[in-house]
Amino acid sequence: MTETRSPIPYPETPDSTAQAPLMVKLREVTKTYPNGNRGLFAVNLEVPRGDFLFITGASGAGKSTLLKLLYGAQRPSSGEVIIDQVNVGQLTGDRLFLLRRRLGIVFQDYKLIPTRTVSENIAFVLWAQGFTRKEVKRRLLPTLKLVGLPHKADCFPEQLSGGEQQRVSIARAIIGTPPLLLADEPTGNLDPDNSWRVLKILEKLNAAGVTVIVTTHDERLVKNSHRSVVQLREGRLYRNF
Ligand code: ADP
Repeated sequence: MTETRSPIPYPETPDSTAQAPLMVKLREVTKTYPNGNRGLFAVNLEVPRGDFLFITGASGAGKSTLLKLLYGAQRPSSGEVIIDQVNVGQLTGDRLFLLRRRLGIVFQDYKLIPTRTVSENIAFVLWAQGFTRKEVKRRLLPTLKLVGLPHKADCFPEQLSGGEQQRVSIARAIIGTPPLLLADEPTGNLDPDNSWRVLKILEKLNAAGVTVIVTTHDERLVKNSHRSVVQLREGRLYRNF
């Protein structure tokens, strides 16, 4: 019998339940903020399961708005935002909470807890979800290895470089093995070498089956990676530019 194994130490198959071919679908999505600012206008987008997509665009183009709609931090003014066949815009309370558990989210400014060690920052997500100590321990080392930081497990965030902190935040995002990873300008504060390293980790995760959506204004990073790319300009989405 042939055993299928992930080529990297991703703790387990990222998604063993839902198998719809489309991971994300936006249908005619417009987001207007209460003060009248327009974040997105009539955006249509389909992201197949297992894809790696860059969303580029200048500051203010709508990149964060699009990701916030995906993780339910904002609701569309009109149109539909679908993740894995679920209409995110209609979710509230526990159902939104459950959806967020199935997403990994990485931010430009890392958002680590300064008073907690690297291990604690990463494990916190699982503790909050009620995982047993044994299970948390089982997942921690492979996840630290994946981001190249097993030797920094007991350090505090301020003892790490920016690149290392971002890798910790990626580890925190993926320790729950989400099928979809959203990264909002993950290399925005990093030099080219560290940006490249972060990109390589995201690509490894993608190779293990995780659908990855990354926003960036770093054209060089996008060009060198040869991945699918769309561009936002003033809230509108373009495929050919
Ligand atoms: P990007 O991530 O590409 O820099 P954003 O999605 O943050 O762009 O912003 C898109 C547009 O929406 C901008 O005009 C911005 O000012 C506006 N915007 C974003 N968030 C808010 C908010 N909470 N309230 C009002 N306007 C907002």
